[in-house]
Amino acid sequence: MRGRIFNIQRYSIHDGPGIRTTVFLKGCPLRCLWCQNPEGISPKNELFFNKERCTGCGRCVETCEKKAITITDSVARTDRKLCIGCGKCVEVCPNEARQIVGKEVSVEEVVEVVKKDRIFYERSGGGVTLSGGEPLMQPIFVQKLLERCKLDGIHTTLDTSGFASWDTLKEVLKYTDLILYDFKCMDPEKHRVFTGVSNELILENVRRITSEFSTPIWARIPIIPGYNDDIENIRATASFLTKVLKDRVERVNLLPYHRLGEVKYERLERENTSTISEPPEEQILEIKAIFESFGLQAYVGG
Ligand code: SF4
Ligand code: SF4
Repeated sequence: MRGRIFNIQRYSIHDGPGIRTTVFLKGCPLRCLWCQNPEGISPKNELFFNKERCTGCGRCVETCEKKAITITDSVARTDRKLCIGCGKCVEVCPNEARQIVGKEVSVEEVVEVVKKDRIFYERSGGGVTLSGGEPLMQPIFVQKLLERCKLDGIHTTLDTSGFASWDTLKEVLKYTDLILYDFKCMDPEKHRVFTGVSNELILENVRRITSEFSTPIWARIPIIPGYNDDIENIRATASFLTKVLKDRVERVNLLPYHRLGEVKYERLERENTSTISEPPEEQILEIKAIFESFGLQAYVGG
């Protein structure tokens, strides 16, 4: 069983309890306007290009069988419609200006990496977290990977948008110890505009999780100025978590927007039209206080 990932991050402390290894899976069905992991959207391999490193030597042009690269103003330009992410140009670039994001791996290969830090998981209450992208885009791989980790006694966490069929979700949850569940916006129409999909399936799935599984849930709430940070949405989210989910949510993690992801758009040579600024600390503390006023344990950060 093989899947496609774009990173394995060891010693992660923001993706669930304790020290964790986070596996980032390729592919996402959402298109959040504020996406900070654009390299996770496509299910295929992609090329990262650092133009500051490029000297325009042209070696990549000669190597590319798809004729996707041209030199313009002494810099290599890649036609992304032609590029298949084969990585041949990466091998010949003398300046490491090119890099492939995405790798096909087996369940066993990932488990071998995850097991290296078992001693840290045991001491800190950590484990493995599957994130993305959206892990549920590769449901069989994810199911097998979680099952394999559980067989090895490793705590498993699924970080998900919840946008998947119930049949997919319920199979994966059989091997999941903790769910990190995203709540981006409570209004279905705004949710569709902001992410490309309505939130109806997402909210229905989390309702069913609370009625059919005992798995603990941590709510993850990105705070995106101008999109979902209004008091009305914050109160509606807190109300949903407490009244509809009946206090099954153990904690709320507020994830303030940051601009660190912008360089990734440059590397993908993709336009980033976002003009979102980082929310001020006072605003985050006000939002935290609203969640706490509903009796929820709220934290800033993952
Ligand atoms: S990754 Fe492959 S197809 Fe894409 S530009 Fe490089 S050599 Fe060409
Ligand atoms: S091989 Fe590397 S340095 Fe040379 S043109 Fe291509 S990207 Fe630039």
